[in-house]
Amino acid sequence: MLDFSRQYAEIRDEVLTAIEAVCLSQKFVLGPQVASFEAAAAQACAVPHAIGCASGTDALWLALAASGVGSLIPTSNRQPATDNRQDAVITSPFSFFASVSAILHAGARPLLADIDPLTFNLYPAAVEAVLKTPAGAAARAILPIHLYGQCADMDALTVLARSHNLLIIEDAAQAFGATWQTAPTPSNPATARPAGSLGDAAAFSFYPTKNLSAYGDAGLVTTHSAAISDHVRSLRAHGMKRRYFHDEIGWNSRLDSIQAAVLEVKLRHLPRWNQQRRTLAARYDQLFREANLAVSCTKDGLVLPWTDPRAHHIFHQYVIRAPRRDALRHYLTDRQIGSEIYYPLPLHLQTSLAHLGYKPGDFPHAELASTEVLALPIYPELREDEQQTVVEAIRTFYA
Ligand SMILES: *Cc1c(COP(=O)(O)O)cnc(C)c1O
Repeated sequence: MLDFSRQYAEIRDEVLTAIEAVCLSQKFVLGPQVASFEAAAAQACAVPHAIGCASGTDALWLALAASGVGSLIPTSNRQPATDNRQDAVITSPFSFFASVSAILHAGARPLLADIDPLTFNLYPAAVEAVLKTPAGAAARAILPIHLYGQCADMDALTVLARSHNLLIIEDAAQAFGATWQTAPTPSNPATARPAGSLGDAAAFSFYPTKNLSAYGDAGLVTTHSAAISDHVRSLRAHGMKRRYFHDEIGWNSRLDSIQAAVLEVKLRHLPRWNQQRRTLAARYDQLFREANLAVSCTKDGLVLPWTDPRAHHIFHQYVIRAPRRDALRHYLTDRQIGSEIYYPLPLHLQTSLAHLGYKPGDFPHAELASTEVLALPIYPELREDEQQTVVEAIRTFYA
């Protein structure tokens, strides 16, 4: 599925030099490399503020808490979801668990809305429907996930957020370098803006499998707001501005300098790597079409990824919809071809989230997607002959 050693061979000298510089400085936590990476990341995301932290999960929690969503100290994550005065955050059930657990850890109530079956991202009309329910009245924020490296429909979500006075917190964990072409306004022409700059605050993850990845756990919050940025900086270091004087109750979510040093090296290569992912995705599309495998509905065969014309998709994942998905996956595994299911169980059906009160059938698009999606190997160093092997194996499975 992923061969990290190819990338390491390419950047080994740069990475080791950067790590050595940290060792020489002996400043391992929030050192100068952290500030320097934060500045480079802010520039890449076209925002004035970027704040490093310990993980993508923490970045989501920090972005929510620093924006004033939730109660900061959650009373109980397991209280029945009936209190309509508690802050609520609308998000998708088709994501990594942290998109929802971070809302609970921030002391807010997750309200789920179904996905757009074409993009797998939060469906604005479903968000609007949730806003009309009694629980929707407590909504403070929308939390769209840019799943697989494609931005959610930020035009429609921004209109909803403005009209209901909601914040937008982006889960951009899979989308560093993705952009969204915002709608033109009387004063501004349409412009492509990067993930991380499209809402009030955004969270990135640099977990080793992400398209921008550290050599361990790491995360980042980006924001246009100086107030949110200051608040994130305080919360990631125990609410401590002056040493051992704690103005509020935060947490330890500091970024370590070795991770920041590695990330700064990799960030310089990222535009090219993201472009390689796009080239690989286009080649998969072409190979599947040449093999006559691509159709528009899983009743008839394979469905290829769909890209919104306003999205610059960076293909963190290349995800097909496949009939008899699990049998196909076994078949590929037997031939030593990696694949992965993101995600096999929608969040509203997770045991630990039963107290949210949802049931099977509540989000049919997310539920169907969880039975059909299959992510194929995609990473910048993947070779053309390897892609041919993948497509050929899938062709023989269906033949
Ligand atoms: C990876 C991921 C996270 C969590 O990031 P960690 O760094 O693993 O904590 C959150 N949301 C999404 C969509 C992710 O893919």
